[in-house]
Amino acid sequence: MTVNVDASRCIGCGMCAAAVPAVFQIQGRVSVVQAQPRTPAEEAGAFDAANGCPVNAIRARKA
Ligand code: SF4
Repeated sequence: MTVNVDASRCIGCGMCAAAVPAVFQIQGRVSVVQAQPRTPAEEAGAFDAANGCPVNAIRARKA
């Protein structure tokens, strides 16, 4: 799975970083992907974060 955050959409709510800190980290006012998901739990968390992002800024692609 590959995830990325569209910084132009992110409002820095922190939800994704709180849910999956191994993958997402707030830097400044936006979330960045600090590491791609490596475990099934991280992949599931990243997928949930993508679905839960209030501004649809997270893309999660299988591959
Ligand atoms: S959940 Fe969405 S809006 Fe909130 S910090 Fe993460 S990417 Fe940004």
